Amino acid sequence: MSCDFIALAQPGVQKLSPYVPGKPVDELARELNMDPASIVKLASNENPLGPSPKALAAIRAELDELTRYPDGNGFALKTLLAERCGVTTAQVTLGNGSNDILELVARAYLAPGLNAVFSAHAFAVYPIATQAVGAQAKVVPAVNFGHDLPAMLAAIDANTRVVFIANPNNPTGTWFGKQALGDFLAAVPESVLVVLDEAYIEYADGDELPDGLDYLAAHPNLLVSRTFSKAYGLASLRVGYGLSRPDVADVLNRVRQPFNVNSFALAAACAAFDDTEYLARSREINTAGMLQLQEGCRELGLSWIPSKANFLAIDFGRDTAAINQGLLREGVIVRPVAGYGMPNHLRVSIGLPAENARFLEALRKVLNA
Ligand SMILES: *Cc1c(COP(=O)(O)O)cnc(C)c1O
Repeated sequence: MSCDFIALAQPGVQKLSPYVPGKPVDELARELNMDPASIVKLASNENPLGPSPKALAAIRAELDELTRYPDGNGFALKTLLAERCGVTTAQVTLGNGSNDILELVARAYLAPGLNAVFSAHAFAVYPIATQAVGAQAKVVPAVNFGHDLPAMLAAIDANTRVVFIANPNNPTGTWFGKQALGDFLAAVPESVLVVLDEAYIEYADGDELPDGLDYLAAHPNLLVSRTFSKAYGLASLRVGYGLSRPDVADVLNRVRQPFNVNSFALAAACAAFDDTEYLARSREINTAGMLQLQEGCRELGLSWIPSKANFLAIDFGRDTAAINQGLLREGVIVRPVAGYGMPNHLRVSIGLPAENARFLEALRKVLNA
C-alpha cells in the first residue's frame, strides 16, 4: 500500500463526502431484529402511495423485451413530455433521474477554473456534480434557510458558468415566488446557465410558485429539471428530464450515456405521466399529511421551516443525533440533515396518515424519555 489513492483523486473530489441516503428499511430491520413491515420510512421524499398501477402494467408489458437495449432517444416519452410541456422534442433531455441532468450540465459546462453558484442548505447533488469535474462550488449563505437570489446574483463572476436553484429546495422545503425568479432571470448574465430544479413542482398548490416552463421562451439560458421520482412515484426506476433551448439539449445529449434511461423507466414514466388520478391522489395525501405533521409538531411545541414540498424540516433547537437514534429504535426512519449544515433539524417526508401518526407517536415517546 504505497499509493494513497485518496490523495491521487483530483482536489475537488478529495473534498467531497459520500452522499448519505436515507437508511434502507431492511437494514434497520436487521439491526433491530424487527419485521420490515413494521418499520416506517419517511426519509427520502418518496411517494407513500406506492407506484401507479398504470406504471406497473407498463413495466410488465416491457418484461419480455429486456434483452434489447432501450430506445436511446426515448422517442415516446420525449414526445409526450414535449406535447404536455408545450416545447419541441429537441428541447427535452432525458436523464437517469434528474440527478443525471444535473451531472450532464456539470460535465458539459464546468471545468477547473470555472465555478457554479448555489445556496447553502441546497440539494447535495450540486456540490457533487460541481466538484466531480474539478470546478469550484460558490456557496451563498441562505436567508431563513431559503435561497438569497440577490446574493446569488452578486456571487456570479466571470468564471461562473452555472447557477443551481431549487424551487422548492430540498432539504429545507423553502421556495421563491414569481417576482423573485423573474427579477433573477432578468439580471443573470446570458452566458450563465440557470438550472431551475423543480423536483417537487407537482406538489405546488395555488399560484404562488412560478412554473419554470413559463420562463423558457424568454430566457435562452434557462434549463428546467424535473423528475418522476417524487410525485410520480418512480424513484427506483431513475428517470427525470431537462427542458431547455434546443442548443443546450443538444450539448447535454452529446455527453450523456447512450442508453441512460432503461426501457422500464421509459414505459413507466409515460404511463405515470398520463395517470392524472394518481397525481391528484398524491397531492391530496401530501396536503393532508403536511397539516397532520404540523399539527403534531405544534402539540409537541416544535417549530419547522415552512415547506411547499413533500417533507418538513423540523427544528428541535438542539442537536438531533440522539433524537434520530431514538426514532430509529422505535422503528421510524427520518433524515438527519447535519450534512447540510442543519444539525438541529430532522427532515421528515410526508407519509400516509397512519405513517405520520406513527412518527408523531414515536417522537412524543423519544422527547419525553
Ligand atoms: C429528489 C430530488 C431530485 C430528484 O432526483 P432524481 O435523480 O430525479 O431521483 C432532484 N432535485 C432535488 C432538489 C431533489 O430533492
